[in-house]
Amino acid sequence: MKQIVSLIACVIFSGFCLAQSSMPSSSTNGTNYSNERPKLVVGIVVDQMRYDYLTRFYNKYGEGGFKRLMNEGFNCKNNHFNYIPTYTGPGHTSIYTGTTPKYHGIIANDWFDKKLKKSVYCAEDDSVQSVGTSSSAGQMSPQRMKTTTFGDENRLFTQMRGKTIGISIKDRASILPAGHTANAAYWFQGKNEGNWISSTFYMTQLPKWVIDFNKKHIVDSYLKEWNTLYDISTYTESGSDLNTFEGGFKGKETATFPYDLQTLKSQNGGYDILKSTPYGNSLTTDFTIEALQGEDLGTDDITDVLTVSYSCTDYIGHNFGVNSKEIEDVYLRLDLEIERLLKALDDKVGKGEYTVFLTADHAAVNVPAYLESVKIPAGYFNTSVFIKRINDFMEASYGASDLIESVSNNQIFLNREKIQKLDLDLDDVQEAIINEIIGYDFVDKAYTATAMINTSFSTGIERLIQNGFNQKRSGDVIYVLDPAVISYGKTGSTHGSSFEYDTHVPLLFFGKGIRHGQTLQKTEITDIAPTMSALLNISYPSGNIGQPLEFIFE
Ligand SMILES: [Zn+2]
Repeated sequence: MKQIVSLIACVIFSGFCLAQSSMPSSSTNGTNYSNERPKLVVGIVVDQMRYDYLTRFYNKYGEGGFKRLMNEGFNCKNNHFNYIPTYTGPGHTSIYTGTTPKYHGIIANDWFDKKLKKSVYCAEDDSVQSVGTSSSAGQMSPQRMKTTTFGDENRLFTQMRGKTIGISIKDRASILPAGHTANAAYWFQGKNEGNWISSTFYMTQLPKWVIDFNKKHIVDSYLKEWNTLYDISTYTESGSDLNTFEGGFKGKETATFPYDLQTLKSQNGGYDILKSTPYGNSLTTDFTIEALQGEDLGTDDITDVLTVSYSCTDYIGHNFGVNSKEIEDVYLRLDLEIERLLKALDDKVGKGEYTVFLTADHAAVNVPAYLESVKIPAGYFNTSVFIKRINDFMEASYGASDLIESVSNNQIFLNREKIQKLDLDLDDVQEAIINEIIGYDFVDKAYTATAMINTSFSTGIERLIQNGFNQKRSGDVIYVLDPAVISYGKTGSTHGSSFEYDTHVPLLFFGKGIRHGQTLQKTEITDIAPTMSALLNISYPSGNIGQPLEFIFE
């Protein structure tokens, strides 16, 4: 009987196989999945780009950069981060993994590791070596990221034939987007080197094209004067150049144009000064265009993934603030960089053969001192004073001075061994801290880890905290500051909160498979990766919680 069954199965199966082999390569419903795929997906992340930078400077942008993406592609105008903290490491990771720190584990740029009992950096990895530098700047990998990126899924789907390359001045903005299976991630080592580097996580030595690029040292040509692109009097979309809200460079008294980088470089980190100027973005474009050729991207029907992050916008925002002339200038210049990159993609991959998305890893708040000057509630929170005060409270309440191991990223980490030793109840201690700190100025809300674990929040700030809360890695108490209150110097902007000024970022799609349009429907940062997976008809990243944005497709 068994033999008869298997004989019948064999006949049916071979019939099926015959039927299959006589079919054309497209499936029965006429869809030819491989023809629909772009040759290259390019993810562009602009570090610290607020949504309103698209609109504030719109009239000064050319036709080939941001406007080309907006006017030919799809503009999701109400796109937001859906967790806190809104920082660079978690931001880049969430864009490419379609999930939040709760699942991908990148809870901040640096965080207190409960096991190692020390602060760790999101991309550091002592088990790998630098490539292209004698410094330790290459000892990096995505090992702390727990889930896959859509680039990883594309690699698995294509049997590793589709490539993934990551590029950014900033290591974490290059490494985390490119994922675990990336062929390469490259970032910039400034100081006295001025070279693009990598790590043994990817390769044992730099490819020839990178060595050649570094040898040319075009980085030197950018150590020149930084003045405004157009006459400064036409920069009517930003505040006055001279004000009290900006940092500036060491060695120059005022944060005003022009900046002579050749003179200023010795006091500002050597080649690292370029990170705080638009020229670091130009260098990123130079390197990326070279990578198209050097890495052979988008030349066949197997989709490759290129992740590019423009980081200088973030350094400039931190230094000069959201409303500065310097910010206006870096965006007018970035517009030209985007135009240059799109033109290179047209030339090398072909118009209509690639798909681009552009977004940001977080936005930023206006300088609080500036907001106060125009009567908007804002302020500065002194974290050192906060730590001292809470330690005093713990000592007075429990007679121990070492119950708190770390206060970082608006989280308090308790020494759980010590709490056990003193026979204290962890929940009681967490609650006592909340009742104490909620009385402090500028502390608006506070939650226990227990609440984050035991309750499911579907709306409001609690949802964003929960999405950012990783049970293994996050702290025991999470506190939220008032709107526009930051723990930062009195000059420049920062980010990290759940407020709209930090969560609202651009999201533009453009190119193959994308229709022209716009929406005010709310989209979330975690929707990008599943949208790219859907475009490529591949599996979603392992921790994905986002929804593909079906309305952007042709
Ligand atoms: Zn950032």
